[in-house]
Amino acid sequence: MNSFRFQRRYRGGLQGVVFDWAGTTVDYGCLAPAVVFIDVFRKQGVEVTVEEAREPMGLHKLDHIRAISHMPSVVRRWQEVHGQAPEDSDVMAMYESFVPQQVAAVAKHTDIIPGTLETVAACRTRGLKIGSTTGYTGPIMDVVKVEAKQRGYEPDATVCATDVAAGRPEPWMCLRNAELLRIYPMEAVVKAGDTIADIQEGLNAGMWTIGFAKSGNEIGLSQSDIARLSADDYQRRLERAYSRMYQAGAHYVVDSIADMMHCLDDIEQRLARGETP
Ligand SMILES: [Mg+2]
Repeated sequence: MNSFRFQRRYRGGLQGVVFDWAGTTVDYGCLAPAVVFIDVFRKQGVEVTVEEAREPMGLHKLDHIRAISHMPSVVRRWQEVHGQAPEDSDVMAMYESFVPQQVAAVAKHTDIIPGTLETVAACRTRGLKIGSTTGYTGPIMDVVKVEAKQRGYEPDATVCATDVAAGRPEPWMCLRNAELLRIYPMEAVVKAGDTIADIQEGLNAGMWTIGFAKSGNEIGLSQSDIARLSADDYQRRLERAYSRMYQAGAHYVVDSIADMMHCLDDIEQRLARGETP
């Protein structure tokens, strides 16, 4: 009787990276969605704070509006105005006004985040495929993809929350990318993004994950606004972002897409040793 059991392990190299969009490759600070969420609630007579608007970032935008409307602080303010808690019909009505407003807002926020073109080129030189996922819906992405391509960024695949059964934190957008790019197993793929939901999505897909603490939703400021923070304030916000992403289970956290290539070297070494995400 054999006393040993042998396990199959992938020891090949990385094959692809799946990037998020806003706050990761375009729209430094993830500014475009935040203002629109605040505005759709304001149209219902309810003020939400920037922090409340940003907390569920990364989800399908319908799920995001629902998540804000379920926050106890928001329910309280909603009740003061409407005499009852927000219902799902209110969520649907806000989502319907959200989509056209978001299409208009994204067109102004599609600047490429510094380092994106260089990192994507370096990944392709290594033979990696470039995938992408987003909480944006198809009509919003139609605008973003065209603007990004004009600025030199065009991933090999893009999957929206509306293309699959459910968006983040479920893994389907990542897995659809792997299918479209014909890359497997999932431990040969990295998911990178600027929100907690991005990390959860990648982990749920069985991929390695890299969080970007500075360029996206966690700090939520443009580069010029970050430059105006006091050194103490900046350090405090950055440390909070790093610790939140590590607590979510990120394998690596760096400032932005410009700083991630050494993570790929490390993952390659771990794969060669037979490690899994
Ligand atoms: Mg993002």
